[in-house]
Amino acid sequence: KLFSELGLSAKVLAAVHAAGYNEPTPIQEQAIPHALERRDVLGIAQTGTGKTASFVLPMLTMLEQGRARARMPRTLIIEPTRELAAQVAESFTRYGLDQKLNVALLIGGVSFADQDRKIDRGADVLIATPGRLLDHFERGKLLMTAVEVLVIDEADRMLDMGFIPDIERICKLLPVSRQTLFFSATMPPEITRLTEQFLQNPVRVEV
Ligand code: AMP
Repeated sequence: KLFSELGLSAKVLAAVHAAGYNEPTPIQEQAIPHALERRDVLGIAQTGTGKTASFVLPMLTMLEQGRARARMPRTLIIEPTRELAAQVAESFTRYGLDQKLNVALLIGGVSFADQDRKIDRGADVLIATPGRLLDHFERGKLLMTAVEVLVIDEADRMLDMGFIPDIERICKLLPVSRQTLFFSATMPPEITRLTEQFLQNPVRVEV
């Protein structure tokens, strides 16, 4: 299959070709059309398979319509580490260059002030580690009611790091009608249970 057959917008296709990608990887080929149909996706894939673009590209296509309102992010991506969060932010910049999206990165170890400003401006994409996201929420700076898409990335690593209670809390703060894109390299029982609790009739993609 070609990238042009997956349903991505013309702008996003141009960015993909500018990045030098000729054809989609298996996770991209299988996940992107379902993500664009607003289905929940359970992607079982390791790092290096192109899984980041499998959620970033359909999200960029969806985000072309509409604008974020102050303190009400439209999409939320949870990553286990600061480094992974920063890498995903970088992907949005790379593929979404001409979209002028407001991408907010909420990670620990830096001051709240810059992050608050990003949230106040209205974040199209909020990329966060679990603890820092909950810190912002508890400070009353963040409203979760407009989140249309939730991405949980590297779920099995979050389990190893003890983040599952935080993930459960975050999921319960979000609208039930949201779309959830969930990625894990392995499926231990705790992760299966989490998907049963928070995904609705997901498409399962395993590479
Ligand atoms: P990831 O698994 O998301 O960490 O991606 C691994 C690497 O593959 C990244 O450096 C991407 O830039 C690259 N990549 C992602 N999708 C493609 C593709 N369709 N063709 C070639 N390279 C890709």
